Amino acid sequence: MKSRLLFGLLAVGLFVFSTNGRSHAQSQATQQHLVQPGDTWIALSWRYGISQETIRAAYPHPNRQRQPVIGTTLPLPDKGRELTGQLLRLSEGGLLATAVSHNISPWQLARINGLPHPYRPTLYRPLFIPGGTEPPRELPVGFTNLELSHITPQPGWALAFRGQTTQPMTITAQLDGMAFASFGNGRFHVSLIGIDNFYANRQPTLTIQPANQPLWAQPWQFVDGQWSYNQITLTGQAAAITQEQIAAERERLFALWSIKSPPPQWATPFQLPITDYLEISSRYGARRSYNGGPYNSSHEGTDFSAYGGTAVYAPAAGTIALAEPLTVRGNAVVIDHGFGVYTGVYHLSSLAVAVGGHVQPGQQIGAVGSTGFSTGNHLHWDFLVAGQWVDALAWKEQEMACWVLAGWGQPCQ
Ligand SMILES: [Zn+2]
Repeated sequence: MKSRLLFGLLAVGLFVFSTNGRSHAQSQATQQHLVQPGDTWIALSWRYGISQETIRAAYPHPNRQRQPVIGTTLPLPDKGRELTGQLLRLSEGGLLATAVSHNISPWQLARINGLPHPYRPTLYRPLFIPGGTEPPRELPVGFTNLELSHITPQPGWALAFRGQTTQPMTITAQLDGMAFASFGNGRFHVSLIGIDNFYANRQPTLTIQPANQPLWAQPWQFVDGQWSYNQITLTGQAAAITQEQIAAERERLFALWSIKSPPPQWATPFQLPITDYLEISSRYGARRSYNGGPYNSSHEGTDFSAYGGTAVYAPAAGTIALAEPLTVRGNAVVIDHGFGVYTGVYHLSSLAVAVGGHVQPGQQIGAVGSTGFSTGNHLHWDFLVAGQWVDALAWKEQEMACWVLAGWGQPCQ
């Protein structure tokens, strides 16, 4: 007992020593800051006690209006002590009301913010209110926090953000003009988007528009994906399928996938739709050349090679949105999981469900086959978010289902 206490005291002593040593080293070297949402020039200036001009000088960009890019690192010259606090845009009651609601004197608030007196505050710059444990961030008006699913995303992934607001409100959001599917649950907000695997912009702008409030915008750093290359030779029946048939089937499916049913139906992580397979024979996003042509298309889903008749399961709970034979995709089952998330399994030899039915994770929905545009027994697994094909394996490995659900205020079971 005694020795354990002594060890505890020693450990505390060492910890204090090493903390001191580290902060001393930090003041010597140039520090890096990984840009998070809300890290605007003003916010970083307050946080680190460095002028906006000094921070910007180390991170030049021709557009002076442009905020730091989320996911990039910026050097911090002369980094001082870090401050915690909030940045607030003045609302109805102005500085006086803000001071009262935050239990701070108006004169003190004016002095901290470099204003001559509290009665004529500037409307163009947020007020800094010291305190709390969080670094100051400029979030969309009404948001108390905002988290992104990925700090440096790749094309072909499903992305999301989650946040809480001081009161229920509706929001809309876009990435480079592409709409997120946004859902509110009281003060909880979740927005999802799927990124095409050929998407080329590496610094798109994320915009969030809370109802009746100013638009919030910040650029976001994307990185390149890694793709495999497949050469495909089409012969016989598969080669006979016409572009018109392909387009007609696609149009019908997109009409279905564009319906973004609000409540999430899943309550668990997603699982693979097949457990007994030989290999993953083609990954999502694989660049494809047909009959020696250019690699200008990509694989929309994930292929599992498996014996005909192998059981195919629902990857998560949902409602059957389609269960029928299609020309290109053969016997197909599409599940609506809510939140604009759809999965599809194709080329089945048989169907075990009907439209409108509800399925539970792991429930059998069909069996592996080679119906439709297929060269042998395999399972094609489609995954769509907000009307865009994305990488199902990435969604699963990144545990997106539970991350999104937690943002909705309903953690996974
Ligand atoms: Zn496929």
